[in-house]
Amino acid sequence: MRILIVGLTILFGNVAYAAAPRLVVPMPSTIVPTPDVAAIGPRTVYLNFEGASLSRSQFADDATTGESAIVVQNLSIGAFDANSLRSTEGLTRSQIISRVVSGMQQLHAAYNITFTTSRPSSGNYQMIVFGGNCAGVAGTNCAGIALRDCGDQMPNNITFVFPGGLRVDDLITTAAQENAHAYGLGHTDDTTDVMYPAITNAIPFRYGEGNIPDNSGCNTSYQDSHQLMLDTIGAPGTDSNGPTITVTNPQTDGVLFPGDVISGSAADSSGIASVEIAIGQWSTNASANFDVIVPSGLATGQITLWIFATDNDGNRTTKSIPITMASGNEDTCSKASDCSAGLKCKSNLCVPDDGLNELGDTCSNAQECTTGICQLLVEDSFCSQTCSAEVACPDGFGCRSNGFCFKSTNSGCSSSSSTPLLMLFITMVLLGRRKLS
Ligand SMILES: [Zn+2]
Repeated sequence: MRILIVGLTILFGNVAYAAAPRLVVPMPSTIVPTPDVAAIGPRTVYLNFEGASLSRSQFADDATTGESAIVVQNLSIGAFDANSLRSTEGLTRSQIISRVVSGMQQLHAAYNITFTTSRPSSGNYQMIVFGGNCAGVAGTNCAGIALRDCGDQMPNNITFVFPGGLRVDDLITTAAQENAHAYGLGHTDDTTDVMYPAITNAIPFRYGEGNIPDNSGCNTSYQDSHQLMLDTIGAPGTDSNGPTITVTNPQTDGVLFPGDVISGSAADSSGIASVEIAIGQWSTNASANFDVIVPSGLATGQITLWIFATDNDGNRTTKSIPITMASGNEDTCSKASDCSAGLKCKSNLCVPDDGLNELGDTCSNAQECTTGICQLLVEDSFCSQTCSAEVACPDGFGCRSNGFCFKSTNSGCSSSSSTPLLMLFITMVLLGRRKLS
């Protein structure tokens, strides 16, 4: 693992003080980011002062499982020891912890982040461990260390603050910086920005604004730290997530006949403004809890059922389900040879054969795919479709970081970086690869 060391000698008062820098580590090439993680939305950060048992991992960095890509070996870190600070500044341990919590809340008041000193029982959260020392954890010398998760592709990073020799407020700014590395932020040259890489006499008090040179870039040479935090996390109380769409009928690759009912619901904390359901040229508006009857006369064969939902904040989610639309007059089949020429066996029905491969099938060019997209995943290409935080993949498919849907059973990831937020350090590799069925 390559480690970037930035900033070494600082001044405390009049005394030249060789202090530890805050480090940022490129994501190891073996780590495969979790698919299906929206790049924006509220975050929870667990400020851990109670110690942690961590296991070394080359493949994960996950606060929920205690796997760390930073630790050089499996280890237990003891609880935060206030006496290891440069000075307790007259505060008790619990007063110091309270000051760190309120300092983090103030520093992040503009962002949709919640800090807690209790480990969340569920959901995604990042963890900042206050304890141990850099040599024992990472085999180097530093005040804090984090992976730089460009594009915030990993939801549960573990970062570290090593209290030894720090001032009380250095705990806050070091924690803020390491945690922000896990959202994708790099260092800047602005000494008032918490992303300044060295500890200085003056304590930074904000996320810097404006274009500031960024010397550890995720494909950028300038960084507006405040804007990048807003772009990644959002402002407090804002709903940046689209509705959740649940479809109970049909299932993926299911069959719809005229008269069948498309059932499901759309839900969002801000309420649902509209739902639209479409198959081919046909579409209809529906309510948040929908039971829509499929009309007769629709084109038969393989087609996509689309459901569009918009919440009262204007966030939109799209769900697509590949289905077979049937007339009711089809012959049944169990294999292709059961069907006459020009038909293929799909979902036990002989339906018109368009000669094209379906989503998730292997392909050699886009013209072979019903979706019109043939996308490379590691070493094979598959018919794919685009996806984003707003446009989800069908069930059984995951939205990879390159913005294309692939079958969830294949854990490979593409190294393509089509958007500037994506982290160039990551050369995503294949893990426990299973062949597509
Ligand atoms: Zn740093």
